[in-house]
Amino acid sequence: MDPRSAYVHIPFCHRRCFYCDFPVVPLGDRADGASSGSIAAYLLLLHREIASSPAGPPLATVYLGGGTPSMLTGAQVAGILEALERRYGLAPGAELSLELDPASFDEARLADYLAAGINRVSLGGQSFDDRVLAELGRRHRGEDLREAAGWLRRARRRGELASWSLDLIQGLPRQGLAHWDGQLAEAIALEPPHLSVYDLSIEPGTVFERRLALGELALPPEDLAADLMDLTWGRLTAAGYGHYEVSNYALPGHASRHNRVYWSGAGWWGFGMGATGAPHGRRRAHPRTRAGYAEALASRAEAPAEDGEGMPFDERLMVGLRCREGVNLERLARQERLEPSLLDGLRRRLGDYERRGLLRVEGPRWRLADPEGLALSNGVLREMLAWWQELERPLPQAHPAPAP
Ligand code: SF4
Repeated sequence: MDPRSAYVHIPFCHRRCFYCDFPVVPLGDRADGASSGSIAAYLLLLHREIASSPAGPPLATVYLGGGTPSMLTGAQVAGILEALERRYGLAPGAELSLELDPASFDEARLADYLAAGINRVSLGGQSFDDRVLAELGRRHRGEDLREAAGWLRRARRRGELASWSLDLIQGLPRQGLAHWDGQLAEAIALEPPHLSVYDLSIEPGTVFERRLALGELALPPEDLAADLMDLTWGRLTAAGYGHYEVSNYALPGHASRHNRVYWSGAGWWGFGMGATGAPHGRRRAHPRTRAGYAEALASRAEAPAEDGEGMPFDERLMVGLRCREGVNLERLARQERLEPSLLDGLRRRLGDYERRGLLRVEGPRWRLADPEGLALSNGVLREMLAWWQELERPLPQAHPAPAP
């Protein structure tokens, strides 16, 4: 099926946060799309890529992520949407999302984004606590977050913005239950229709990785991390949010349609430096540097590492288990031509989790149980992956196609 979604990567940030390993280009605290030659040059490449990409049906979801897309002006965001519309068209009612970072935009710029057609915003708040934000290497402070959330609430009340999401990070250094409870209470009070709550993960090459190695990062122990997740679930579900994916909560009607495309296995286009797309289910990663991206664009080559690879079976399984809809195991096994012995082993393994109350079977579909399974999901998924690796073979091995 032709993709009906597009992810567009805007790689610029003011500075690199201490936990971040995304493909980003730090431009300094004062940089802005209105004056930056680097941003203008990148947008030229991005427009060239979109205009020269294979045609497809109108897009039902578009996500401008980063990086810090709110470093772009309203006109630059409008230009990207127009380029996508020229190439593919935008379906009626398309979800058009933009990531915003507090302190990188103001209310006037928000109005420009909405005038350009953006109808959903994802606000990268992470924390309300200035001490925590400084420790994360974030540029904004709690007051910037509260102010930006206020603009979004007002825009929604005026009917100019269909929905918005607030990102928070849990499991931070020295985070205790009382502190996290206060953070959740403050988030709920801002009435975001959608909340994404991510676990802090320590990525290779980051400042946090170095600090951890030096013993300077006191992360919550595993049992406290599980309690923090339970607290998140309890607080947010009590406030009316549905838990529709491990890290995502939404009021009725506000689940992200674009996120569901990733988790459902449906294809999407990826545009820009470091972007990953999966048109027709085949994953394609773009180079993570501007020079590499420009070079690849010149020859229309893709990054070699993942070029043309379908999403691996274990990843499709894990992605499916994370979703409330679950995964149809038999169908997935048929699609992947999984060997019967492997399918049996997998069924037994999943059965163990079901007996422990961590997985649930509904007809042909398996999914993480809710709430216990979702709260413990990272542990379950880690265990599952480790189990696959113990089989000492890449999974699944498709049966060779019969000779013609
Ligand atoms: S603002 Fe976001 S993308 Fe940019 S460095 Fe920080 S975490 Fe990474």
